[in-house]
Amino acid sequence: PRRGAGGEAVTTCCYCGVGCGIKVTKDKLGRLNVSGNTDHPVNKGMLCSKGMNLHYTANDTSDRILYPEMRYGRNQPRQRVSWNAALERTAAVFKTFIEKYGPDSVAFYASGQCLTEEYYVVNKLIKGFIGSNNIDTNSRLCMSSAVVGYKMSLGEDSVPVSYDDLEIADTIFVAGANPAWCHPILWRRVEAAREKNPDLKIIVSDPRKTQTCSAANVYLQLNPGTDITLHHAIGRALIENGDIDSAFIKNNTEGFDQYRNIVFERTIAEAAVICGVEEDQIREAAAYIGNAKGFITMWTMGLNQSVVGVNKNLSLINLNLITGHIGKPGSGPLSLTGQPNAMGGREVGGLSNLLPAHRELSNESHRAEVEEFWNIPKGTISAKPGLTATEMFDALESGKLKAIWILCTNPLISLPDVRKAEAALKKAKFVVVQEISNKPETLQYADVILPAAAWTEKEGTMTNAERRISYLNKILDAPGEALPDAEIICRFAQKMGYHGFDYKNFSEIFDEHAALTKGTNVDMSALTYEILKKRLTVQWPFTQLHLNAHSDNELASGTKRLFTDKKFYTPSAKAIIHSFEDNNRSEALTPDFPLVLTTGRIRDQWHTMSKTGKVNKLKQHISSSFLEIHPEDAIQRGIGEDALVVIKSSRGEVRVKAKLSTDIKKGVVFLPMHWGKILNNDLNRANNITNNLLDPKSKEPDYKYSAVEVSAY
Ligand code: SF4
Repeated sequence: PRRGAGGEAVTTCCYCGVGCGIKVTKDKLGRLNVSGNTDHPVNKGMLCSKGMNLHYTANDTSDRILYPEMRYGRNQPRQRVSWNAALERTAAVFKTFIEKYGPDSVAFYASGQCLTEEYYVVNKLIKGFIGSNNIDTNSRLCMSSAVVGYKMSLGEDSVPVSYDDLEIADTIFVAGANPAWCHPILWRRVEAAREKNPDLKIIVSDPRKTQTCSAANVYLQLNPGTDITLHHAIGRALIENGDIDSAFIKNNTEGFDQYRNIVFERTIAEAAVICGVEEDQIREAAAYIGNAKGFITMWTMGLNQSVVGVNKNLSLINLNLITGHIGKPGSGPLSLTGQPNAMGGREVGGLSNLLPAHRELSNESHRAEVEEFWNIPKGTISAKPGLTATEMFDALESGKLKAIWILCTNPLISLPDVRKAEAALKKAKFVVVQEISNKPETLQYADVILPAAAWTEKEGTMTNAERRISYLNKILDAPGEALPDAEIICRFAQKMGYHGFDYKNFSEIFDEHAALTKGTNVDMSALTYEILKKRLTVQWPFTQLHLNAHSDNELASGTKRLFTDKKFYTPSAKAIIHSFEDNNRSEALTPDFPLVLTTGRIRDQWHTMSKTGKVNKLKQHISSSFLEIHPEDAIQRGIGEDALVVIKSSRGEVRVKAKLSTDIKKGVVFLPMHWGKILNNDLNRANNITNNLLDPKSKEPDYKYSAVEVSAY
């Protein structure tokens, strides 16, 4: 039996960025059971299929890594070793590379599933002590376009709204997202709001007619890559109809005149042809937005994972800005976070171009503030941005990067053009993998394997998509010798001889992180574990004002909404309406590769399946990978339902069964992104064929647009 802190506890779901509250009970044998926390403001007791089956994952330790392992050469078997031996050797290798090739010869690749405390210490370690900015996470693959979009338009990476706003909006525009499957509890709240208010209008744009589309008043089945054209056309219709907020535009924004010029370069009829939708649909969508007192834009990977992801974000946020729908109840942009703690990672600066508390790496005084706080010599933090996710693997390939430490993620399923990434990892001089499961493909390339504690086996915090910080309890002891990720990093830092990592507990790490936010726009300096345990969750900023608020006062839960004073975080305090052409820069289709491949999630699986893949119940919905293809495209190629097909791009191929559906736009095919190698066969792996183009500003990959061809096998 595994023993832990107690028989019952509250915690937070470790899957998506919705951030549902969970109650966990533990029986005498240490087996967990889960239920939705009815007191939690996010889910009010509800859980989706993934959340309600979390106990199966937590109870099953059959695939867990129990002990550190190490080997001295790729051809040798790994041996079980002590923590001391594993960390000493790793420190010795890192020191050698740093001395010989400089600090940029090592890198950490982490995850939006790391807790904030874990993110904080790994970021502090590499930026403040090793002296490199080579830390990036799989959030780069997910939210980085939204981060840049917010920074460029609002002055900082700050989601202005709360989920509660969805329930009082009159119009919601869901762009490139399928929350009914990927953010189910949030979508259930929207559905409940629609039941109460049948006049709530929902607009959805997506080349695939997903379950979310069934709730739409206007469903825009647009051609892939044409989102900016669509958003510009809606913007033009709003201007033509006089449905813009001229006072807000004049007093609180910059850039409207250039924007008007750009969106008037195309007629709405021309835009409709490019997007592959009806002109009337664009006008209808614009009319719903124009008539709304509260208007929310909501999006996720369909916009972010694009070679023009930042511009897609900006063009959508522009619709909030020209209508003045921001900083007031029921209005604003809401980027849906894929992972549970992508936002917490951004708070601590856990990307290769950021510093803690949304400070900028490029800003000398920001670097000096952090150096002073960390008590390190001035000039230690490099101004040079580190390698981003895909750049790290390119640098391994070229030999520039010698060592990589991968924690809490499996890039050998999730990176684009993944066979190239796999070849690069094979060439790496030294690979550390910090993992809970013995399944991921990364392990076969590891020189050192470090067993990590999983959900409910460690404490810490996470921030969901509405800036809501929640506490996660430790309920079970980790199996074998597995340790919490933050503890592993701190032990390693001490082996490297660095001071400042001798925390007595995780609460001290959180307190240090919170203190570093003081006076910034992400100020949570008044927050502690004790307050989180008492108030369950709060939304940042959370300052002395919020701490002192009476429990009846909304302020006691932090900040529900940003920009209520219409002052933005830009130098002029005005939001910026950006203007740009609507062209897509994705890979060109050719006679050999005439179809657009888009990839995404299915309802009951999570990312690379290390956790959800263990639960039989979750396989009942969809048990294996498949290709969704329009019947006309299938017939042209002699493909029937369930036929085995080969999907080829210039990078490689995938072989799965075909699923014919009119729900997908003709000329587009869809593959789920979850599957990796099965018995060493990688032909289910969607990223064998995705391209490695990136958005130039966010460095986020173009997962939603790769040129492919499909044929019967
Ligand atoms: Fe967990 Fe997301 Fe489901 Fe909520 S909606 S239970 S956070 S996976």
